[in-house]
Amino acid sequence: MDRKETPIRVERLTKRFGSVTAADNINLDVKAGELLVLLGPSGCGKTTLLRCIAGLEPIDQGKIYIGDEEVTDLPPRLRNIAMVFQSYAIFPHMSVFDNIGFGLRIRGRSRDEIEAKVKQTSRLLKIDHLLNRYPAEISGGENQRVAVARALILDPHLILMDEPLSNLDAMLRLKMRTELKRIHQELKMTVIYVTHDQIEALSLGDRIGIMKDGRIIQIGTPCEIFDQPETVFVAEFIGMPPMNILKARCESDGIRIGELFIPLSVKLPGPSVLLGIRAEHITVTEKIESGMLKGRILVREMVGVQDLLTIDIEENTVKVLVDAGFKPRGMVGLRLNPGRIHLFDPESGHRLLIR
Ligand code: ATP
Repeated sequence: MDRKETPIRVERLTKRFGSVTAADNINLDVKAGELLVLLGPSGCGKTTLLRCIAGLEPIDQGKIYIGDEEVTDLPPRLRNIAMVFQSYAIFPHMSVFDNIGFGLRIRGRSRDEIEAKVKQTSRLLKIDHLLNRYPAEISGGENQRVAVARALILDPHLILMDEPLSNLDAMLRLKMRTELKRIHQELKMTVIYVTHDQIEALSLGDRIGIMKDGRIIQIGTPCEIFDQPETVFVAEFIGMPPMNILKARCESDGIRIGELFIPLSVKLPGPSVLLGIRAEHITVTEKIESGMLKGRILVREMVGVQDLLTIDIEENTVKVLVDAGFKPRGMVGLRLNPGRIHLFDPESGHRLLIR
């Protein structure tokens, strides 16, 4: 099997630290050549899961496979996995050349092979002009490229990346994100990438696994996660601004928020429901008609080509995007695109499949 195209399987993996269950019965399949992003809030268990896969943490239960081989009890050095950290973790006393070639040198590869591979990998990362410099003589972004080159040169089964761009400033982050995407498209290596930045997850991931409290609560392509969130938590975690969640009353043939009535083909069981709708699927009008949702504009913020309005509606607050030239004041009417609403159970937060 080509090393760069190795699938990874995690079965019922549990890792506890005393009374904290950091990874809770996790099942995960990463396809060969896939870049899978683990996304979730601080403390949800992302780094723990990576460290378990790398063999840096013993696990309490479960199995880990790399390709067809079970590696659960193998030490890290025998798993053929490379890691890239937020802190770069490159050696300050070694030149860029020696840092990139380090892994091959300790594996006893010949000088010629090391030189050829360092040149090839550094060209790929556009740092071939920096090979004689030391880490202190290059920028943060360049240091991170060295760290990525050092991982790639080993031709590992799997690359684990733990918030690799967090130490970079906003512009560099954007640039490196595009670079990583380009390199992945070119080499198609299997990557698990941890971040708490949802934009990074949406732009980089072939698929995204959303983590919460030690579990993967939804996994899917960026489009699936964005368009079909399975819970309120996912709906509010993905998207900028987060999806609006409004409380609605259930009636016999539909749901109601204030004067707005949305007919449904089935009756919902409870007295209320949570209605989710993204900012871009709400239209604001200055002319308020009967049967329309009404609200008062609280705040206007410029967010680029559009303005973001925060609007107070009875017991709800919604965020809506409007063209920058459109400047309504005070009370406005709102139209929700009925094809783009999501319904969630108010108790469990789970998506209701009834529309
Ligand atoms: P962050 O985004 O902040 O890095 P994370 O999602 O990577 O967070 P983990 O670092 O995996 O989360 O931590 C998951 C849980 O396990 C947390 O409650 C954390 O406090 C706990 N934890 C992690 N490492 C240890 C450890 N070595 N000893 C005890 N508890 C730990």
